[in-house]
Formats: sequence, C-alpha cells, structure tokens
Amino acid sequence: MTAATTQAPTTTRKIAFYGKGGIGKSTTQQNTAAAMAHYYGKKVFIHGCDPKADSTRLILGGKPQETLMDTLRTLGAEKVTNDKVIRRGFKNIQCVESGGPEPGVGCAGRGVITAIDLMDKNEAYTDDLDFVFFDVLGDVVCGGFAMPIREGKAQEVYIVASGEMMAIYAANNIAKGLVKYARQSGVRLGGVICNSRKVDREQEFLEEFTAAIGTQMIHFVPRDNIVQKAEFNKKTVVEYDADENQAREYGELARKIIENNDFVIPSPLTMDELEAMVVKYGISD
Ligand code: ADP
Ligand code: MG
Repeated sequence: MTAATTQAPTTTRKIAFYGKGGIGKSTTQQNTAAAMAHYYGKKVFIHGCDPKADSTRLILGGKPQETLMDTLRTLGAEKVTNDKVIRRGFKNIQCVESGGPEPGVGCAGRGVITAIDLMDKNEAYTDDLDFVFFDVLGDVVCGGFAMPIREGKAQEVYIVASGEMMAIYAANNIAKGLVKYARQSGVRLGGVICNSRKVDREQEFLEEFTAAIGTQMIHFVPRDNIVQKAEFNKKTVVEYDADENQAREYGELARKIIENNDFVIPSPLTMDELEAMVVKYGISD
C-alpha cells in the first residue's frame, strides 16, 4: 500500500483589491499590509499589477522600482530570479511590481499574466507568508487584469469603493466580473472597503449596497489628510505615525480582514436597481 501523499496545507491567503481608478486601492492596500505587519506580526507580500508601478512605493520609501517586466526585457526570463525583482521594505514586507510593456507597445494586461506566472514558477509566494496582495489596476475585470481572479491566483477579493456614484457603478461591475470567474477559479468576495469621500450618508449607502449584493462593508476608512502627509514623506500612515487615528483605522481594517470568514459569490444589481438606489441617496459625482 502506498502512503497517501498529503501536501502540507498552505495558510497563505491571496487577496486582490479591485476598484475604480483613483479610489485608493494602492494606498489602502499598502496601509493594510503595513498594519498587518506592524500590529499583528504578519508576513506580507505585495505584488503590484498596475503598469504605473506605484503599488509598493510607500512600503519601499518611495524608491523608484525597476519592474519585473523591465528586468525581463534586460535579462530574459531564465535569469529573472526572485532576488532580482523582489524588494523588502517596511517590516520586511516583500514587494514586486509587474510593470508593463514599453508604452504604446503591446497589451498591459499581458504583463500582469507574465509577471504572476513567473513569480509562481519561481515559487516566490512562499508558504511562510500569511498574505499575498495583488494590487490590480482600476476596475478592469478583463484580459490580464482579471488574471488574479480568473485563474485562482487570488482566492479573496476586496472592492474599494466610496459613496460616489461612479465608484459604486465600478464596484457593481467588478462584482459582475467576479461572478463570471467564481465557479471556475473558486474566487470569493470578502467585502467592500469604504474609502470615504465624505459624501452625505455614505456609510448608510454602502451598507445598503453591500447587503443588496450579498456581502459586507468590512470597514469604513475615513478620509484624512494625514494620508497625504505620510505619502509626502514616502511612507504609509502606519509607518509615519502608528499612534495616529488613521493608522488605527488601517489596523482595524487589517484585523477584520485577518478575522474575516464571510466569503461569497456576490449577486450584483441590475442597472435599474442600481439607479434606484443612487436616486434614493440622491448622490452625484
Ligand atoms: P488607486 O490605487 O485606486 O488608483 P491611490 O491609492 O493611488 O488610488 O489613491 C489616490 C490618492 O488618494 C492617493 O494619492 C492618496 O493620497 C489619496 N487617498 C487615498 N485614500 C485616502 C484617505 N483615506 N484619505 C485621504 N487621502 C486618501
Ligand atoms: Mg493604484
């Protein structure tokens, strides 16, 4: 009789953040990662999937990054070793930026696919990690940008939104994209993060929207100028001043993600339902 080969269960949780461009994905993600490492001692890896390559700069002290795609073009795939593309920043958080094709040439989404495949092949997402974050560009749930959720590279998605109409439309569209891939890849929605734009009745609106699509508003992150101040100093708020209220908010978000067990296939709203909700809250951009 041959002994059953049981693979050690991997505890690494792979998470992708999606949301409208400019909504605060990269900021929220880096601050959450920093909070996980700082307050909870978690081991974190951030894989930036935006051709702008700005997903990890607050963790790395603002140093411009040579991206994985840049290294790939210079060295060729075989020579792209982990130590050439992974950098360590605040609290030893590991960072890689996919980058993109040369501007105007080729499909940016392809770069994401190439980069994640290469990291997988190089076994960069090691089992000792608690969390891997994929910071995906905008609200594009197609092509390469859908890759983290399409092929099961990330099992958990958080949508960053606010009470602004376009942010909610984007959130609903992302939920639609997620439904499309959920069965084949196993990806689930873990919640919507409200990154406040100080819109009237924002929290109430987000609570109603998230309940309607079958998920939770996992945390309400206030808008606070300390974020810009920390950014100016090339740091997350958590690194800049962990005693600040805003740093504690990111700590709360980190704790809720760590403890989360509410993972769903969402039920996005129809256009009519969404418009009715928008009218009810009387919001505009
Ligand atoms: P995205 O990655 O979604 O395109 P960013 O994370 O780059 O968005 O955020 C855009 C800008 O919004 C950042 O420069 C940051 O200063 C600002 N920002 C994000 N979240 C907050 C917040 N909670 N309070 C204040 N400013 C914020
Ligand atoms: Mg970003």
